[in-house]
Amino acid sequence: MKEHKIKVTEAFYSVQGEGRHVGVPSFFLRTYGCNFTCPSFGMTHGEKTTQPDEIAALVFQSPDKYKTMADLPLATKGCDTYLSWHPAFKEYSKFMVTSEIVEDMKSKIPSGKYSADVHLVVTGGEPLLGWQRTYPELLERLKAEMGLTHVTFETNGTQRLSDTFKSYLHTCGLNIHFSVSPKLSASGESWDDAIQPKIVCEYAYYGIVDFKFVVDSIEGVQEVDRAVNAYKLYGVGYTSVYLMPEGGINEGYQTNTRKVADFAMKHGY
Ligand code: SF4
Repeated sequence: MKEHKIKVTEAFYSVQGEGRHVGVPSFFLRTYGCNFTCPSFGMTHGEKTTQPDEIAALVFQSPDKYKTMADLPLATKGCDTYLSWHPAFKEYSKFMVTSEIVEDMKSKIPSGKYSADVHLVVTGGEPLLGWQRTYPELLERLKAEMGLTHVTFETNGTQRLSDTFKSYLHTCGLNIHFSVSPKLSASGESWDDAIQPKIVCEYAYYGIVDFKFVVDSIEGVQEVDRAVNAYKLYGVGYTSVYLMPEGGINEGYQTNTRKVADFAMKHGY
């Protein structure tokens, strides 16, 4: 039978640094493609970065200098995973069939297997785009060959689950977690596009839903309340709300940490 293929931007074993499972050793599968571009992170409100296009121009001028992903500069503004969606960098991501992905995981996870203490994180880009059709095959193989029990989908919360994927999630017996990171105005995406309670409401039928907001200012943290209320009004069954200081690089991150921590303590997030 022909195997499914996924365009993979990165596949690596590390420690979860965010949200409910912070500290859990996890394999990260970063799929290619996103429905957003989030051009305003780290910019004065209303402005949009052109950094990914500038990096693309550098690559175009000196392709020999940027042969691998590791040769590319970090983005300090906008989306920090521009490689996972910007068309100029699509060649850095490669199609992998299910068996190649499974073998890659076996070779990178030291024990060669998953457990309640070693999770799979499917991230992006936006991992709930069309790749949904490939996950049942992959997850079944991982259950059978590597003892997979816990999967987190890190999503921006705008993609409907397909009927086929919903049927699979309903019966798969895995612990499913949706780590939903809705994009607030600091991202540059519009509220109506980014805040989709009707869609996220469905996720809660198939797994645990947490929210994770990237915030950069007092206005930003107030927007978190507005978004959480919008989800509550719709009856979204979420478990926890996590706040994450904006900062693609360490300097920005440190600047925001204290004020975000204060807000989280005050509001019980
Ligand atoms: S939703 Fe995430 S991956 Fe997509 S552009 Fe925004 S920050 Fe980047």
